[in-house]
Amino acid sequence: MKRNCLNCGMATFLDQKQCLKCDDMLGIQSDGSSVTVDIAHQNERVRDAVLKLENLLVELQSDNTSYLRLIVGNGLIRDEITYKLGALLHRKEILSFNQDGRNSGAILVHLK
Ligand SMILES: [Zn+2]
Repeated sequence: MKRNCLNCGMATFLDQKQCLKCDDMLGIQSDGSSVTVDIAHQNERVRDAVLKLENLLVELQSDNTSYLRLIVGNGLIRDEITYKLGALLHRKEILSFNQDGRNSGAILVHLK
């Protein structure tokens, strides 16, 4: 799989950190898009949900998605994911996170 540099359009490899043509840092390019993933409604235990979040973040590092909309429900998973996101924010691995509008069962994570 390949992607194109958003700055100059040059084809780049997924594991490439910097564009060969314009030197833009590919890892922080974003296209303003969002993905929505439900991590709480397939009988996940809390640690399954946390693992899903970790895998998602690794996956999304290699594309240009700006926002991750997490469906977390209103129980223990939400509490644990909120705690986890707080730690990620502290380490600057995400830019911010907030409840998604008036929907308390969803969290909008600003990745880049
Ligand atoms: Zn480029």
